[in-house]
Order: sequence, then structure tokens, then C-alpha cells
Amino acid sequence: IVDTLVTSSAQQTTTVPGIGQFRADFPILDIKVDDKPLIYLDNAASSQMPQAVIDCLVRYQKTQHANIHRAVHYLSNLATQEYEAARCKLQNFIGAREDREVIFTSGTTDSINLVMHGYGRKFIQRGDEIILSELEHHSNIVPWQMLAEERGAHIRVAPINDAGELLVEEYEKLFNSKTRFVALSHVSNALGSINPIKRMIAIAHQHDVPVLIDGAQAAPHLKIDVQDLDCDFYAFSAHKMCGPTGIGILYGKAHLLESMQPFKGGGDMIASVSFEKTTYNEIPYKFEAGTPPIAAAIGFGAAIDYLEQIGLDAIADYEHELLLYASEQIRMIPGVKIIGDCPDKVAVISFVIDGIHPHDVGTLLNQEGIAVRTGHHCAQPIMQRFNVAATSRASFSFYNTKKEIDALVAGIRSVQKVFA
Ligand code: PLP
Repeated sequence: IVDTLVTSSAQQTTTVPGIGQFRADFPILDIKVDDKPLIYLDNAASSQMPQAVIDCLVRYQKTQHANIHRAVHYLSNLATQEYEAARCKLQNFIGAREDREVIFTSGTTDSINLVMHGYGRKFIQRGDEIILSELEHHSNIVPWQMLAEERGAHIRVAPINDAGELLVEEYEKLFNSKTRFVALSHVSNALGSINPIKRMIAIAHQHDVPVLIDGAQAAPHLKIDVQDLDCDFYAFSAHKMCGPTGIGILYGKAHLLESMQPFKGGGDMIASVSFEKTTYNEIPYKFEAGTPPIAAAIGFGAAIDYLEQIGLDAIADYEHELLLYASEQIRMIPGVKIIGDCPDKVAVISFVIDGIHPHDVGTLLNQEGIAVRTGHHCAQPIMQRFNVAATSRASFSFYNTKKEIDALVAGIRSVQKVFA
């Protein structure tokens, strides 16, 4: 049913040619939830995996698996080559100057913690200031608070307006001689707002302050060019972009990574070890202690191949069309309010329904096979900003369709009827 629905929807309503065909690549989208076709609209939490990535993981486990960087035998060489090839794919994907600027981590959270420990603990002192924004995910708040507490540093927060847009003039006013670091999300996970980070990075650099960008919600949807952005660090996770869980990257400018302390100690991150003195390996290995998630890294490379085959621009265009369609429909439902309804967004819609708790909304939509996320989305400060405890969030991917949006809209109307 889903296939027919999708094919016809894609043919009838998509202006981006051919994008609907990719839905068939995702076996999980064929499953039923209590006999209803799954309508998966929780892509901002984790997206689904295409057959090409599943095949890559199976192929790796069946024919390539060994530990990397450590042996001269056939399988170890093969696994090493595949792992390093995945690093190069990531390098090209984000336009990094060198592959050694790409560090494999377990995900965005791990990447941010790496920078907090490796850069923050080395360079941030008592009285220094770190700028964040009101739109941050807890992953880009809590590590900086831990550092601020440890060092006696202070967090300053760039505000947003009622549409969920960052106020760049207010952000600029936060800089002073004590500002040492800026950490900003590229795209808000709770609202979907795309932040004007290129401008914000340039402002920070006028004050000689490095900038980390949390790209967890941007990398799956927008073409990223770290050299054009001129960010100092950029972090994202594979599981939000058709790849496996447990893997992500940290991009960092080589000279900054070289100046930093390793976050974790262990095998592979050393050049030499004695009980008197240890010297560290060069980047990126200095930050990849222990056996990394090799299969997941190679699977991440396959996900990048897959996304590039579709094209990030085509993905962005199609998802934008879904966003406009869904926003228009949802705005028309009396008693429903979109939180953060700004023009510059990825395809994420956070909404509240008068008198109905988001948890009930999610539970009833699930009975229709519709998967949305409800709660504070690991972004409690933004919930406080809009004076709500939680929202329901529908987040779309290039494999979603307008028919699925129609089902969501019908689902919201039925939820309202249940509570009428
Ligand atoms: N930052 C943002 C904006 C996110 O949306 C997420 C996950 O939802 C994270 C960071 C954390 O990502 P992970 O759990 O993959 O480390």
C-alpha cells in the first residue's frame, strides 16, 4: 500500500524529478504498525537506512572484518583501506581540506565533548566566556556548562525571536575581551530553524574566537562546505543521515586539532609509550583511541555515497516542498500552533494542540501508524522560551510523501475529535 501511495504521490505532486523512486530503497518503510502502513516522521531523531547501506554492513561483516591499523595480514589491510576510504568520503562530503581533519567519533555528542575536553580544558580559564544560543540541543549546552563549572567560566546565550530565528545583532553584542569560544547549532532540532552561521562565524572571527558548529540536523539536509563556512569545528552523526548508530565525525581545522589535548587515552592514539613518557600519534589518530566502530564507519561511508547519488541539492529542494505543503496544511487546523514558524527552515514542524498533551498526540497518531516525536526534544531551554513543556514534532526526509502529510493532518484532526 505504501509503495503505491508513494509512487503515485511522488508522480503527482513532486516537482523534483525522480526523488520518489528512492523510497523503495528503504525496506523498513514497508512494515505495518497494527496493520496500518508505517508513516515515519521522526527523521530528526534517527533516519532510516537504505538497502545499499545494509548491504555494505553485511558485506563488511562477511568478507572484510578485522581490526584496523595493526596488522600486515590481508583482512586487516582491507578493513583499514575501507575505514580510511570512508574518512575520505566524509572529507569530500563536507569539503574539508585534508582527510586528517576528519575524526571518527561515536556521534555529535561525542564530537562536542571531544572539543570541550581537548580544546576547552586547555584554553578556557577562570572568567572566560563561552557563547551558545537559545536553540541548542542539550549536547551543545551541558558539556560547556560542565567546563564552565570546572573552570569558573561563564556561559552567554544568544536569544531568538518569536519565530525561532536567532537575533544576530544580539549575538554580536555578547562579544567582549573575555569571549573565548562559540558553540552554535547549524539547524535547530526542536524547531528546524536554519541559523545564519556563516555570518555568525565571521563575527566570532572578527573577535579571534573559534566556533564549533553542531551540524547534527544540517548535514542530512543541506550541502555543507566547511571551508566556505570557515567554521573551526563541525560535528554530526551518521544515524540521522541514513547511516548506522554509534558513529559520527568531528571536523576540525588541522592547526587547532594539533594544538589540542587528546580526549581519550589508549591504543592507536600514541606514537610511543614508556612508563616515563608517552608521545601522541598525529591527527586524526590522536583522537581515535582504542578499536573504533569500524563497521559503522564503513557503513557511514556507504550512506554518504547514497546521499551523494541523490544529491544534497535535490534532497533540500524536495524536503522544502514537503515543508511548505505540511506547514500550509497544519496552519489551517484550528487550535494547532506551529512553534518556530519561520521561513528559513529544514523540514521539521514542531506543534502544539490546544488542550491536548503532546504525549497523547503521539500515542494516538501511533495508533494510525504515524511516528512523530513528542517531548522536549533534548532542548528544554527552547521549550522554556516558548513557555511549553513539550511539543509534537514531525520531521520529514526525502523518502516521505505529500500523501503521508495528508495522513498526518487527518491524524491531528482525529486526535482533536477524541479530545473534543
Ligand atoms: N545536536 C543536535 C542538534 C541534535 O539534534 C542531536 C540529536 O538529536 C544531537 C546534537 C546529538 O546527537 P547524537 O545523539 O547522535 O550524539
